[in-house]
Amino acid sequence: MIIVLKPGLSKRQESAVLHEIRTRGYRPYVMRGVARIVIGAVGDELTHASLESLVTKFPGEVESVTPVQKRYKLVSREAHPANSTVTVRGHVIGGRQIQIMAGPCSVESERQLLTAAVAVKAAGATILRGGAFKPRTSPYEFQGLGEKGLKLLAKARRETGLAVITELLSEQHADLVAQYADIIQIGARNSQNFQLLIAAARTGKPVLVKRGLSMKIEEWLLAGEYVLANENPNLLFCERGIRTFETYTRNTLDLSTIPIIRKESHCPIVIDPSQGAGRADLVAALCKGAVAMGADALLIEVHPNPAEAWSDSAQQLSLDGFAQLMRELRPFIQAAGRE
Ligand code: PEP
Ligand code: MN
Repeated sequence: MIIVLKPGLSKRQESAVLHEIRTRGYRPYVMRGVARIVIGAVGDELTHASLESLVTKFPGEVESVTPVQKRYKLVSREAHPANSTVTVRGHVIGGRQIQIMAGPCSVESERQLLTAAVAVKAAGATILRGGAFKPRTSPYEFQGLGEKGLKLLAKARRETGLAVITELLSEQHADLVAQYADIIQIGARNSQNFQLLIAAARTGKPVLVKRGLSMKIEEWLLAGEYVLANENPNLLFCERGIRTFETYTRNTLDLSTIPIIRKESHCPIVIDPSQGAGRADLVAALCKGAVAMGADALLIEVHPNPAEAWSDSAQQLSLDGFAQLMRELRPFIQAAGRE
């Protein structure tokens, strides 16, 4: 911790602060500047009381207390300098190849899911997305098919060979969802539900943690830390747009998170332009931007008949739209030095 003292303190005031630091189990190193004194306090916060409360305990003496170390450790580049990768059914996320996860927002029926799965696979996707448990803003909207939806996802996997990503909404369903999913998605509305993150991590399946609607990047990294801290090394971060003042788009897709996550963390970064923009007409441009900026995977909503989708109708690509996008993406993937 770095403790900055207020200017013009008496020797007695300074000693009182130093005494308190030592009492709490830290070694203080005093640096005397022209106007101020700065103290470096060395010790372990996990086993000692935090020094952050010095500001309230010594309001006349202590100006600020700032941690030197980052609050997230296991997700940080410092802990693991090389990129880490997550492998699902032979597909490596975070390697040279950009993985495309595609499929409907919600699993609606066997026909709908199978049609989408066959088409996205033919166009080059390797992972099938589809929500069986849906987090809906209104309780009167379609809530998902539940286990029946999971069974359909498993069937689509058997028939196409695609891996499956699907959302886990409740701790209660952790084992059930893990039986069917290759990757567990933690949605934007749940990414600070810490017990859910722990339950997802403990299934042992790879976990994709979406960024919450108003989550700071540090909070998102700390949400990911919950996965690694619960002995699950297979973590993916997914940016899906944040809430801003802008209403032209459903959310504001923050592509700046790509270089930021790559700088701060070794874990792969996935971009979801579908929830990000909420508009099918913007998905292709956002995918190109994401690939150019270093995204490791894309999560794209695709529906055989978007106009009749039971959820997120406006943002889902048609099967032809998706095939066209995959063709248009190719030069961008090559230019980014990826496959
Ligand atoms: C989804 O992927 O369909 C979804 C509900 O995502 P988010 O949690 O990002 O809103
Ligand atoms: Mn959706």
